[in-house]
Amino acid sequence: MKNRILLKTNLMVCLVIAAGFLLTAVFSYRLNYSASLKSIEQVSKLTSEGIYHQMNNILSKPVNVSQTMANDSLLKDILLQESGRLEDPDYIEVLQEYLQAYQKKYGYDSVFLVSAATARYYNFNGLDRVLEPDDPENKWYYDVLLPSDAEYAMNVDNDEVANAENAITLFVNCKIKDGAGKLLGVVGVGVRIDQLQSILKKYQDNFRLTPYFIDEEGVIELSVEHTGYDPVNLFDTSGRQDAKEDILNWKDDDSAISFWDLNPAGRKRDYIVSRYLPEIGWHLVVERDTSELIRTLNRQMTIAVVVIIVIIAVILFIITRVIQSFNRKIVVLERACEQERKSMFEKATNQLFEDIYELDVTHNRPANQVTERYFESLGAPAGTPYDKALSIIAEKQIMPEFRQGYLKTFSPQNVLEGFRQGRESLSYDFMISNDSVNYYWMRITARLILSESDGSLHMLVYRQNIDAEKKQEQRMLELARTDEMTGLLNKAATQKLVEKRLEEAPERLSAFFIFDIDHFKDANDFFGHAFGDKVICSFTGILRENFRRGDLLGRIGGDEFAAFLPVSDVAWAAKKARELNVLLDRDYVDGNNRWHMSASIGVAFSPRDGIHFDTLYQKADAALYETKKRGRGSFTLYHGIAGGQYEDN
Ligand code: GH3
Ligand code: MG
Repeated sequence: MKNRILLKTNLMVCLVIAAGFLLTAVFSYRLNYSASLKSIEQVSKLTSEGIYHQMNNILSKPVNVSQTMANDSLLKDILLQESGRLEDPDYIEVLQEYLQAYQKKYGYDSVFLVSAATARYYNFNGLDRVLEPDDPENKWYYDVLLPSDAEYAMNVDNDEVANAENAITLFVNCKIKDGAGKLLGVVGVGVRIDQLQSILKKYQDNFRLTPYFIDEEGVIELSVEHTGYDPVNLFDTSGRQDAKEDILNWKDDDSAISFWDLNPAGRKRDYIVSRYLPEIGWHLVVERDTSELIRTLNRQMTIAVVVIIVIIAVILFIITRVIQSFNRKIVVLERACEQERKSMFEKATNQLFEDIYELDVTHNRPANQVTERYFESLGAPAGTPYDKALSIIAEKQIMPEFRQGYLKTFSPQNVLEGFRQGRESLSYDFMISNDSVNYYWMRITARLILSESDGSLHMLVYRQNIDAEKKQEQRMLELARTDEMTGLLNKAATQKLVEKRLEEAPERLSAFFIFDIDHFKDANDFFGHAFGDKVICSFTGILRENFRRGDLLGRIGGDEFAAFLPVSDVAWAAKKARELNVLLDRDYVDGNNRWHMSASIGVAFSPRDGIHFDTLYQKADAALYETKKRGRGSFTLYHGIAGGQYEDN
């Protein structure tokens, strides 16, 4: 149970922390991601601007220089003289000087001139060679000669000039025409590609992007890895056919075009900026590979997740330890409280009850060792069935008149039957003794409980000494039924006890006497009420002396008394009444006061004259009335109902 709560708490805390951390991580990931993309975009754009301007500067100058030479009238004049001075070394020197002057001024790797008339190739070193139309190496020249509106043409080729080591070079070729538009030759400059590549490489290394210059077809003319000498189409190698059209059609020279997500695999998000260089007819494409950024971000994310897991593990560990130690403290506290409660309860229970026993009523046996030992102490050896032990206890300890009730109340059959009828507790008050001499009151309260383990009915028996309580109760009862002045039963108690005895032995012949003090009013009147009280006490004293202990004697009126007792026959009662008349006929003296006391008596018999108090009282009273009527001081026995025959003394 506790573990489940712990698990739940940990899980909840875990979830909350994980959710919080993950949200933060994802949020910061997205923030970093978009910030990084933004910076990529800016850096890429700025870098492409840089490349664009620097390269445009470098590349457009050869065009301008070539065009200047092509339009130079001096050069045209020199060319026109060529046919007449083919073998003149001075002529070649003039051209060499001319070309050398440009080479020195601009520092180009190559400054050359091809005569259209002779296909002679001159450079700043003089006459280099004569171009053969069949040589594929000279194709560039014959391509330039083809009719075209273009003012110049560019091509990348190896420089075949002596000492040029066949270096890959970017050549700018311009046609020289005379005033009539006739082609005189081709002049131009060459810039070694490796110089340009080193500029691009600097950008590539510094800004982690790849610049390409491509022509109208998409062929890479210049990049760190490729040149136009060995043609490679950018769109073929990168598979970015979808962007090809957009890039190649983009010729707005003032602004750049940019693309995201151009990788068809869709995994990395590449960024591309493109610009057009109209002077040389190339497109600058700057590509930024974002996969490294994604990798970095993923790495950061992974680190964040690992950190989260470690933090959660630490927190869970701490929470578990704290809760466990808290639980331990709670358990210790609970045990201490329980122990305290238990000892208080035991103390209180021990004060209330002498012993507590437990019985398995269904199986008719004691349910624990304490009970078994108790039975043994009373002479019921171990293994004695409960009902037998109950009889032994009743015989040994319980006052005979309570034995029956005791056995009836607690016999297994009675308990089981009571439980079936819905009773959950039983109680019986009785008198018990440990020495068969001194009896005291004891109350047994039993609670009936159905055992959860085997469904048997168990009875928990609490024994409580109620002797003091009972005695007090009896004292109160006694007081309630006793006439205070005379100590005889009062009228209600007399009636109750007479009824009880009539019920107990309805067939037994019993006499019901009524005594009335004759002219008692006079005693009061002559000598006062206190004197009258003393007369009453003296009168009842005589009655008490002349009846047996078990006979009922009660005061049923001011000067009227009753006695109820079993008699052997009517004659005995008449004799008794006569004797009492004699005994009660006397002077009562108190100091100087003397008053003559006598009594009138009426007697009825049970069951002959009635079997209830009321009828007996009524009939004895009727007999008394007769006595009074006859002059008092005597007795009358009630004879019959109708006609009222009476016998007197
Ligand atoms: P009778 O011979 O017909 O019985 O005449 P009586 O004077 O005895 O008349 P009755 O029985 O009617 O009167 C009873 C009187 O007893 C009336 C009442 O004042 C008196 N009495 C009743 N209770 C007490 C008592 O407790 N003490 C005293 N002193 N007098 C009592
Ligand atoms: Mg009287």
